[in-house]
Amino acid sequence: MAKHIFVTGGVVSSLGKGLTSASIGLLLERRGLKVRMQKMDPYLNVDPGTMSPYQHGEVYVLDDGAETDLDLGHYERFTNAPLNRDCNFTTGRIYQTIIDKERAGLYRGKTVQVVPHVTDEIKNCIRKVATPDVDVVITEIGGTVGDIEGSPYFEAIRQFALEVGRSHCMFIHLTLVPYLKAAGELKTKPTQHSVQELRRIGLQPDVLICRTEREIPRDECDKIALMCSVERRAVIQEKDREFSIYEVPLSLMGNGLDSLIVERLGLTNARSIEFEDWTEMVDNIRDMAKPGSRDVTIALVGKYVKHRDAYKSVYESLDHAGIAHHTKVKTVRIESEDVETVGAAELLAGVDGILVPGGFDKRGVLGKVAAIRYARENHIPFFGICLGLQCAAIEFARNVLGLADANSIEFDKDTPHPVVCLMDEQKKVTRVGGTMRLGTFDCAIKPGTLAHKAYQAELVKERHRHRFEFNNDYREMFAEAGFVFSGTTPDGSLVEVIELPSHPWFLGVQCHPEFKSKPTACQPLFRDFVGAAIARKKK
Ligand code: GLN
Repeated sequence: MAKHIFVTGGVVSSLGKGLTSASIGLLLERRGLKVRMQKMDPYLNVDPGTMSPYQHGEVYVLDDGAETDLDLGHYERFTNAPLNRDCNFTTGRIYQTIIDKERAGLYRGKTVQVVPHVTDEIKNCIRKVATPDVDVVITEIGGTVGDIEGSPYFEAIRQFALEVGRSHCMFIHLTLVPYLKAAGELKTKPTQHSVQELRRIGLQPDVLICRTEREIPRDECDKIALMCSVERRAVIQEKDREFSIYEVPLSLMGNGLDSLIVERLGLTNARSIEFEDWTEMVDNIRDMAKPGSRDVTIALVGKYVKHRDAYKSVYESLDHAGIAHHTKVKTVRIESEDVETVGAAELLAGVDGILVPGGFDKRGVLGKVAAIRYARENHIPFFGICLGLQCAAIEFARNVLGLADANSIEFDKDTPHPVVCLMDEQKKVTRVGGTMRLGTFDCAIKPGTLAHKAYQAELVKERHRHRFEFNNDYREMFAEAGFVFSGTTPDGSLVEVIELPSHPWFLGVQCHPEFKSKPTACQPLFRDFVGAAIARKKK
């Protein structure tokens, strides 16, 4: 029977519950255990798919096409736990299920209530991932203890522990121990209050992970343990990491968290930890941060650059490429609208590579097109992702093929040259509703191209999230002018990868390769893009 770990947060939001949960998953996996990760989000949207990246950061896409919270990206970068749409639930989705059941008469005339119906449905969602082959399910509860909207989840996990037995599950609570400059002290009171709030609703934490910017003195840890009724060794510090998020699991391991969990849950099949590759990778990052080490500058030209997490997986993948090349990647975030007003040359001079990520809607598109022109004409390595590929097609059509006002029909319905159009028109099929191409699809790669050099394979799988496509009516014209369609769907009907052999490294993909990169195994296109940027810098 699977054991359960529930990760909750207190004091403030944005403490890094996702990272901590992912780190716990990694530590347990490295002890030979089969882990599953899951996140509950207390908001009313059915999924984050329709939310602006300004609201909630990146929408992370899974193999099965589920549009999920970006914490699932941490789970995948840290662990090998398979993820699917049962790994992220929102209150909206849970209510949708309940209302559908109610409309179908499945409650047989009963009054449908938060307790027991919503809490039962939450417990069902937890059980869904606890399949017989799994040793530990880690469920992260979004939000902060005490939030009104989170309360059904806290109640559900309280009931869950009662049902499966307290020895089969454990509660890990993440809090903040702030440093007060004026007093010159770390303060434990917010942690005490947060645990009081948890206990008020019937949850006694087994472990407290205390985020702190400074070392917490021994007697303060003693105090937290005593006041919160938590074993002294279960008060675990998580000091702000110096160089990288990938240090978190090492610090938690150093503080004995994995052993504590194994013991507390009686995970007798756990073996001793195997962690050399991770430790080596973190040493590598620390080494790269030393003054005088090699670096390379990549400009990311996008529309949501002001939000730290809007392109989370892209930033992470660039870091992974840096790790692969033992070179620090400095990512400069450039607002695409600024390229329109200030100019590409002014903003992009001196960068070693230019990346245009995915996006929706027309704001900033002309800035992206200008940045791509600058990359193409100045032989700067260019990597276009999804909308980045589409903008590269618009740029080439306008500036090389002389097709004035060429555009995507997403931005100009009446363009005389729709080089990017709706995919249903491409496939010559009519579909109603949900026309977004979501999830993993096969892509056939043409030998002898940059894409093939990177992947070393003729068939690859990547995740997608888009509605529009390169327009096949323009393929011939682009090819005659030197474009290569180096990746297509296996039936050849949709363009997946484009490149320009006359340029040192110019490549656009319709997929989102950033969802497949790990710090210990960089996604090949990111690796080669950054490799090309390094080669340019060396010249
Ligand atoms: N807006 C474009 C489309 O729907 C690109 C989407 C993306 O970049 N994810 O096709």
